[in-house]
This record gives sequence, structure tokens and C-alpha cells, in this order.
Amino acid sequence: MRAAYIEQYGGTENILVGERPDPQPGAGEVLLDVKAAALNHLDVWVRIGRGGDSVPRPHVLGSDAAGVVAELGHGVDHLELGQEVVLNPGFSCRRCAACRRGQQSECEEFGLVGFQRPGTYAEKVTVPATSVYPKPASLSFGEAAALALAHVTAWRMLMHRAKLRPGETVLIHGIGGGVAMAGLQTARLIGARAIVTSSSDGKLEAAAKMGAEHGINYERTEDVAAKVRDLTDGRGVDVALDAVGAATWPIDLEAVRKAGRVVICGVTTGAEATTNLQAVYWNQLSLLGSTMGSDEDFREMLAAVEATGLKPVIDRTYPLDQVREATDRMERGEQMGKLVIEVAK
Ligand SMILES: [Zn+2]
Repeated sequence: MRAAYIEQYGGTENILVGERPDPQPGAGEVLLDVKAAALNHLDVWVRIGRGGDSVPRPHVLGSDAAGVVAELGHGVDHLELGQEVVLNPGFSCRRCAACRRGQQSECEEFGLVGFQRPGTYAEKVTVPATSVYPKPASLSFGEAAALALAHVTAWRMLMHRAKLRPGETVLIHGIGGGVAMAGLQTARLIGARAIVTSSSDGKLEAAAKMGAEHGINYERTEDVAAKVRDLTDGRGVDVALDAVGAATWPIDLEAVRKAGRVVICGVTTGAEATTNLQAVYWNQLSLLGSTMGSDEDFREMLAAVEATGLKPVIDRTYPLDQVREATDRMERGEQMGKLVIEVAK
């Protein structure tokens, strides 16, 4: 099969596209013919080896995929050959207390396809059978691939961790990124308001068309938190959704209202930040971490997509040969939505 993979850690020049052995599904696994995959910042961490020297190489990159069930491993009977499916990239042990409670992303053995298992930038991938779901009929393979990781992450962050309610206001940093875009769409879906930030006026205009109430260009705004308070009658937002990390964390703490919630799922600008502890207790803030989602989160997110016709925003689609170009675009932060890899027609 053809695949995009790394043999050594480093820059995008280390992404190779070529032949790799076809994988075989083990017990409890399925083989997918991948039709489309999608990029995530996680791919960058895996490629540069930030998670420790733990990935056996050569390693196929990529966490998101949609495709067709091509082979069933032993003991898999809830799926059919030829079925069109979307992959939930997260997987877990399915035996521990967290898994039995239905909180799979709290499992000690929680992992991601494309990180702890070979990834989806390939014509074929084997995955746990419990990680695949029927593809919403309203979505193309590219849209379904673009949906999975970003939308389940935003869904859990807003619906279950921050418990965002209709009419509340959420601050979303770095609009254009996958989780930020999914967060904006999810917030609008439930009738919440959104204030978004970006360094690009073009992205802020596009976000306004998607229903963002206010956009803040953080490069031209001296004090982003003060601007957020101005836009909320001095009160602050109810929720801050953060996938940016060190650069935006101090802003979150100043921009949320008393008893506000800050929910974070990523640290693209760094993992170490300063926290004003006085603001945390005096303002009675809730600081919430979130990782991917549970099986139920994924099902709920798919059901919402089916019920509302929501489609993830796709920035550009590339052929498998151009994973490197797609990744360069993501690392330059130029995208407005998801970057999709069309693997097969
Ligand atoms: Zn478990």
C-alpha cells in the first residue's frame, strides 16, 4: 500500500510517501480501505518526537480517517464488509473502571491511531473495531475524516466539561484551527454566542459569516482580555475554549466572568504558563482539561451532525503525495478549517 510515514523525527522534509506492507487485522480489529484522512496538530508532535522516543519507526502518520470496511478480524460481528465508516481515533483498554464507566478517554491506556498505532495517511489501516462508526450519510468521506478528532474534542470540551448553555458566551482563540472551528460550530449549534480571536482579518470575517458575534485581531489589540470584557458589558465570557496554551492561558483567566470556566485541550504555543491563583479562587474559576472524547461523546457528536446537517469546514484537500505541503500550510497557521488528504476516489 502507499502511505505517508516517517523513518526519523524532524521537520516536514522527513515525511516520506511510498510503499509500506499491507496491514492485517488482528482479533477485534478491522481493516479499512481509507478514502480520506485529515491533518491534526498531533501529527506534528508525533513527527518531531515530542511524546518521547516511543513511536516504533517507520511510522505511518495521521489520526483521522473515513473509508470502507475491507476485512474483519476474528470476533468482529457488528460491522459489514463494504460498510462506509468514520474512525474515532481514540482507543482504550475497554476493561478498566474508567472504560466500564463509559469514560474511555480517562483510561490509563488511552491512545490515538497515528500515535500509539500506525496512522491513517495510508491506503489501508487496521483499527480496533470498537473505534469505527457508520459514516453520516450527509457527509462525504473527506468531510467525515475532517470531523472526527476536532469535533469530538470540541464536543466534550463544551458540552460535558464546560457545560456551555444556550445564550452563554464562549471565547475561542485562534479561529481557523480545527478545534477552534469545531468549537465555533458547536457553540452556534446550541445557541451560544462566540467571540473569536485571530491575527488574520480574513479569518475573522469568515468566522463572522459562520455566526461569531465578535472578532478580535490579537496582533492589533493591546489587551485582549480587556477587549473581551468591553464586549461583554464588563462582565467577561462564561467559557474560554483554549487549544493554544501558554500564549492565551493568562488571557483566559482575565477574560472569563466570576465562576467562569476555562477548558483546555492543547498547547501549540507551549505547555508552561503563569496562573494568577488569586484570580482563580477570588473569581471562583473552574479550570478544566479535556482530551478527545468517550464513545458516547463521539456518538452524540455524530447524532448532532445527522440531526442538523452540520458540515465541518474544509480549508483544502490534497492528494496523498502532498501530505508534506498540507502539513507546511498547517504549521504556518494559514488554514481556515481542516486540511484533508484524499487517499482514494
Ligand atoms: Zn480502560
